[in-house]
Amino acid sequence: MASSPTAAKAPPSSDPVNLVGLVRSVLRKSGVAEVPHCSDLLDKVLLWSLTIHLPLRETIRAFGLFKSQFVDWNDVRISSAAEVQTVLRAAEEPLELAIRLKEFLNYLFQFHHHVGLEFLADRTPSETKDFFRQKGFVPGSVVSHVLEALHGYPILPLESWTQPMLLRTRISSNKHTPLQRQKILYETVSPEDRLLTVFALHEHARATCGDRKARLRCWECSFSIECPFPEKTPEPEPEPEPVVKEMVKKATKKKVTVKKKAVKKKTAKKKAAKKTATKKKATKKKATKKTATKKKATKKKTTKKKTTKKKTTKKKTTKKKTTKKKTRKLPRRKLPRRLPGKRLEKSRDPHFPPAPPRPGDG
Ligand code: SF4
Repeated sequence: MASSPTAAKAPPSSDPVNLVGLVRSVLRKSGVAEVPHCSDLLDKVLLWSLTIHLPLRETIRAFGLFKSQFVDWNDVRISSAAEVQTVLRAAEEPLELAIRLKEFLNYLFQFHHHVGLEFLADRTPSETKDFFRQKGFVPGSVVSHVLEALHGYPILPLESWTQPMLLRTRISSNKHTPLQRQKILYETVSPEDRLLTVFALHEHARATCGDRKARLRCWECSFSIECPFPEKTPEPEPEPEPVVKEMVKKATKKKVTVKKKAVKKKTAKKKAAKKTATKKKATKKKATKKTATKKKATKKKTTKKKTTKKKTTKKKTTKKKTTKKKTRKLPRRKLPRRLPGKRLEKSRDPHFPPAPPRPGDG
């Protein structure tokens, strides 16, 4: 029976990656045959610290330049940051790293009046930790290195960002805490290989097997076949050709412009609608105000008319009353005495009209 392509693909191994093989392979890939031998504790601390900030090959190159271009570490301390940064050019932030190195050397000089770390041999582990904690240039794993060198601290000192790599490769188990893992590794690795193992694990975690998934470069890893990690990252799509790139760029630009235009149009429309609504509102308010004023004026007019009518009526009534009173009070006029044979004179008084002529008169 013919086997399917899926069946032909071997499942990932569940065995851990061989630590010794990984160390050797990483050192070979970095082109580092050996690390400089240091007998002075300050040399060791600075070399170990630089391996955390620079690729291993660059660390060894920079360390060699410090040793050949400067008289000693005190000379580095009094040199300018610009001079020191030329040696650390492979770092992500060379000037920043140069300033931090100089700050640490200055701090050491002020603390001990000498650029050297021999005095730490007489200090307790907690005093040593306190000393390094003051200035952040020396990483935690290097402080553990110092404690291991001075006090036999039984751990293989590793930075926290190497832990995901140890778990993916199953060199360490997730049943243990980071400190327990470092203790187990210390027991596993022979004393002469400990330093190289630390350097190689830091190098592998920094260059290929990063702490975050975005930093994983499994397609470049020499242990891709034997690594038991099930979610290895595939090789990314190749970069598009320059013409295609230009076309994509143009299309993206066009898309952005269209989007921007649409947003602008929408904003303008919104603004216009708002303006119209405000205008409408203002007109309505004005009309309402006008109506109210008109109503008020009409009411006032009506009231005035009513008052005037009332006043007129009252005046009329008063006049009528007065007239009536006057009429009632008018004195009764005495009739003139009528002499016999004399006709009465024609009275001009409307109230007393002349008496009609009697048959014997005249
Ligand atoms: S980079 Fe990928 S393949 Fe390599 S050790 Fe890490 S997880 Fe495994």
